[in-house]
Amino acid sequence: MKSTKPHVALLASPGMGHLIPVLELGKRLVVQHEFHVTIFVVATDTTTVESHLRNLPNPKLLNVVSLPPVNISGLVDPDASIVTKIIVMMRETLPALRSAIISTTRQLRPTALVVDLFGSEAMAIADEFEMLKYVFIASNAWFLSATAYFPTIDKRLEEEHINHKKPLMIPGCKPVRFEDTLEAFLDPKDQVYVEYLRLGVEIPTADGILINTWEDLEPTTLAAMRDTTSLGRVTKVPVYPIGPLVRPVMQVRPVPVQEDSVLGWLEKQPSESVMYVSFGSGGTLSSNQMIELAWGLELSQQRFVWVVRPPMDDDASGAFFKVDSNGYDGTPNYLPDGFLTRNSDKGLVIPMWAPQAEILSHPSIGGFLTHCGWNSTMESVMNGVPMIAWPLYAEQKMNATMLTEELGLAVRSKEFSTTTIVEREEIERMVRKIMVDKEGDGIRSRVKELKYSADKALSIVGSSYNSLSKVAKDCETSLQGQLSKARGA
Ligand code: UDP
Repeated sequence: MKSTKPHVALLASPGMGHLIPVLELGKRLVVQHEFHVTIFVVATDTTTVESHLRNLPNPKLLNVVSLPPVNISGLVDPDASIVTKIIVMMRETLPALRSAIISTTRQLRPTALVVDLFGSEAMAIADEFEMLKYVFIASNAWFLSATAYFPTIDKRLEEEHINHKKPLMIPGCKPVRFEDTLEAFLDPKDQVYVEYLRLGVEIPTADGILINTWEDLEPTTLAAMRDTTSLGRVTKVPVYPIGPLVRPVMQVRPVPVQEDSVLGWLEKQPSESVMYVSFGSGGTLSSNQMIELAWGLELSQQRFVWVVRPPMDDDASGAFFKVDSNGYDGTPNYLPDGFLTRNSDKGLVIPMWAPQAEILSHPSIGGFLTHCGWNSTMESVMNGVPMIAWPLYAEQKMNATMLTEELGLAVRSKEFSTTTIVEREEIERMVRKIMVDKEGDGIRSRVKELKYSADKALSIVGSSYNSLSKVAKDCETSLQGQLSKARGA
């Protein structure tokens, strides 16, 4: 196959929070630049992939390759953190990725490999095949700053941050409070600490870092990363804010759906009257917290759609690899007695998984109680929906702090820890603050302003559009170099 357009290979880590933005990035490279794109996914639900790739103007340019599942049971402790499990899965996938890249090379050799953070070891394969290599951060620049700066502060981390709970000071960026810190930073003896440190060392070996953010969302952090006068700058690699990467949802009103579906139900509710409650693709609450949340929603007397999962008392990411509803009869018997009957006119409970992008874009949604996963956050912003921040794991506490203290897009509980219970009265207050009180109006208008700023960044000649165009240009230049070399040979 001869082509003057580059072929870019993308590698997504397991988990919808990684897969969804990588698919969107692949679509942008096809739609905006007419690149050939191959997305490598690690054993995932292909129906989800297909639903994301519908209506692509040029489907021939985008190919999704499922890499075979890997068995990591003998390699990690069953209680290891979700990040450790993902990283080990990615490591075990490398031989299959290498073979898959070799077979793609026979048709059109990829010019660049884009790996998401947890797949950074795959950059060695890019070196082997003389490809450009990029790291994609499916989160924000502040999170990147903490990760990329980790090797520099590693030696002081235990004494200052862990023992004395001092904030992490990152040059030019907002400090990270101990209460908000990444779980990976908490125990130097844990495998996740060691793996994370390695990520921090590998990121700067990339040709560039793509981030799911945009210039006007994080101007200070991005400026600090580019400040060539700062000796302690967190990374010297070019950073490309290309976000927000959110799946666009086309909805024709009224929605042509079944009456008994969630969208059918939303059609019958007044505008901005429903609180959507969801903890991402893996989040779970303890049994006591589930009960308090149910009562809090009921006491608020507001309409709601709640994606429920069986409670887990000691694992906030307990559903990460288990979100399918197989074997689950859909009766949530862990909710307070009579909850479903008492709230049948006001609320809808959806077991395990819901069409979140469609729900959030429905005009009846007026608020989002979210675990602050970065995709959920971006989806909320892009639909102008104010939030209640309820962080659980990973970088979600940093995200919650950014949303509440810096951007004013959310309210949150005074409880910081995931081990204390947020009580029903406080939940009731937060829901009413967003849905009923004046404070909610201010937050709502700030979210809508930010949506405008994101739309502008994504528009032609907007900052994110331009950022991705720079990466595209580098790929084109590299391809030209490859072609002239081949002609000369
Ligand atoms: N999601 C969904 N339905 C659900 C739960 C999650 O469609 O019931 C999607 C959600 O729209 C988002 C992604 O899964 O795009 C979750 O990513 P996020 O970064 O918010 O959180 P994570 O799952 O990585 O913790």
